[in-house]
Amino acid sequence: MTRLILLGPPGAGKGTQAQVLAEVLGIPHISTGEMLRNAVAAKTPVGEKALGYISKGELVPDELLLDLVRDRLSQPDAHKGWIMDGFPRTVKQAAFLDELLQELNETCECINLEVPDEVVVERMLGRGRPDDTEEAIRTRLKVYHSETTPLIDFYRERSSLKSVNGDRSLEEVTESLKQLVAS
Ligand code: ADP
Repeated sequence: MTRLILLGPPGAGKGTQAQVLAEVLGIPHISTGEMLRNAVAAKTPVGEKALGYISKGELVPDELLLDLVRDRLSQPDAHKGWIMDGFPRTVKQAAFLDELLQELNETCECINLEVPDEVVVERMLGRGRPDDTEEAIRTRLKVYHSETTPLIDFYRERSSLKSVNGDRSLEEVTESLKQLVAS
């Protein structure tokens, strides 16, 4: 049973890799970024509230996310495992997920996708998503370093952290991830 969190900076390739792995393993890919973008496109109340934060590259407030994640993990397809990217992004979100998994009597592991800042900036500028403006990218990286990197220690202390060098070709990264997941 695979329950996996992919950690790493924005633009590290978490979403792409999560998608591939999820397909290989036959489990759902849960991306809070994608869920939020869908909510924005569908103009739901959550989407309307989230839009301003997303376009500036800021974190969407927890109250919009926690219910979204709780609901998603309680859907039937998530009972056979999942790969999550973009969540948790703060220690508070990680503590929430920890509690949720305890309630469900489940555990998860975490892989940190390591990519240097200058590489992710270049990748994001080439990607052309609406929130990939230089200003928003700079904010996302700043938020990543202050809010999300503490999670590396959070999961390391729980002995559930592994790392993969994400500064390689898509296929090479996928291969390393597959090996780690199988081990
Ligand atoms: P990236 O990894 O390139 O930043 P994501 O798709 O993961 O892209 O996230 C896009 C945006 O969605 C973030 O900049 C943020 O505004 C919002 N978002 C996604 N996940 C979270 C989260 N767990 N907590 C707060 N905001 C989030």
